[in-house]
Amino acid sequence: MLYNTEAIVIRTVSYGESHVIVTLLTPQGTVAAMARGAKRPQSRLAGGVQLCVHGIYTISQGRGMGNLSQLELVDAHRPLRERIDLAAYAAYFCELVAACSEERPGGSRVVFEWFRDALARLSRSSEPPAVVARIWEAKVLRLIGASPDWQHCVQCGARLASRPVYVPRLGGMVCGECAAAAEQSRFGWTDAVRVARAVPSVLYQFAAVPWEKIGAVQLRGETLSQVATVLRIQLRDFGGLSTKSRDFVDRMEALFDIDTDGGS
Ligand SMILES: [Zn+2]
Repeated sequence: MLYNTEAIVIRTVSYGESHVIVTLLTPQGTVAAMARGAKRPQSRLAGGVQLCVHGIYTISQGRGMGNLSQLELVDAHRPLRERIDLAAYAAYFCELVAACSEERPGGSRVVFEWFRDALARLSRSSEPPAVVARIWEAKVLRLIGASPDWQHCVQCGARLASRPVYVPRLGGMVCGECAAAAEQSRFGWTDAVRVARAVPSVLYQFAAVPWEKIGAVQLRGETLSQVATVLRIQLRDFGGLSTKSRDFVDRMEALFDIDTDGGS
C-alpha cells in the first residue's frame, strides 16, 4: 500500500552506511519509515530526512516498517540546523513532541499543528529561542493533561491577584491567603516558590492562546526565569518529562547567559 502524508521529521537514526530510519509526526500520529540510501549525497531523499523538515512524504507500507519512497518539501526549516543554538532547541522540541504523541493513526491533529507552529516560530527568531521554548513547554503540559488552571488558586479556587505562590506538590499556584495560612500551620510547604504577580497570567497565555495570536513577547528577565522554573518542575513532576536535550539547552542558556530581557 502506498500513501502520502504531510509530516515533520522528529527523529532520525542511521541504519547501516547509507540508510536512515526517520520518525515522522503526521496529523494522525507518529510513524517510522526506512529511507533507503538517503545518506548518499545524490539521493533524492537526502534533503528530507533531517530533523524538523516538513514535507509531504510518500510511504510504501508492507508488513513491518514502511519505506520512504518520495518526498516533497513544504518547509526545510534550515535555520534550525544551521544555527547551533536553534538546533539544540529544535532537538528539545522534537523530544517533547515525541513524548506527547501517539502512533499513527491514534494521534491528534492538534499535536501536529501546535508543533508545526512551534517550529515556525523558532525558525523566525523574532524573539529569543528561550521564550519560544517556554511557550512550547506550556502547550506540551496542556497536551499531556498536566497543565493546571494557572490563573486560579488550586486550593480555594480564587482568581490569583497579589503574591501568588507555586507549590510543586500541589502542581499549581496558590493565592497569598492560602500560602499565608499554610505558613502558619505545621503543614507548611517547604518547596513553595514565590513568583512575580505576572507569572500566572503569562503561564496561562502561553498555555491557552494559539501560537498565531501570541504577539511579540517581552518579559523581564526575572519573570521569564520564574516561568522557566515553574514549567521545568511541572514537566518533570507531572509530565514525567526530564529530557536529555533539556539538560543540554539548560547548560547552553547558562553558558551564553542568553539575554532574555526584552525590555520591561
Ligand atoms: Zn487560595
